[in-house]
Amino acid sequence: MKPYKNKINRIRSFALGLIFFGFIIMYGAIFFRENAILVTIFMTLGLLSILASTGVYLWIGLLSTKAVQVVCPNCGKHTKVLGRVDMCMYCKEPLTLDPSLEGQEFDQSLNRKR
Ligand SMILES: [Zn+2]
Repeated sequence: MKPYKNKINRIRSFALGLIFFGFIIMYGAIFFRENAILVTIFMTLGLLSILASTGVYLWIGLLSTKAVQVVCPNCGKHTKVLGRVDMCMYCKEPLTLDPSLEGQEFDQSLNRKR
């Protein structure tokens, strides 16, 4: 398994993780209900991570407008490419917008300008 994922999908899973994290922390506050300070801290942390994930979702929205929509040559579906190299959202086919990188081993570092 390659560790690479489509960037938009990856950010989306990160935002989802933040929401879960927030809810778990807020749920954890129940165990400290005797202690008002701890409850406040846990609730605030939980709320903050949920707010953060909302921010990340907004960021995805912004990124999506910048992403280039292409038809994947492998599975024929419409996918979004972010940066110089990215992966198909559906079949994980490496895609590039830069013809000079075509056929090269997929590498996340290719996104960085050299
Ligand atoms: Zn594909």
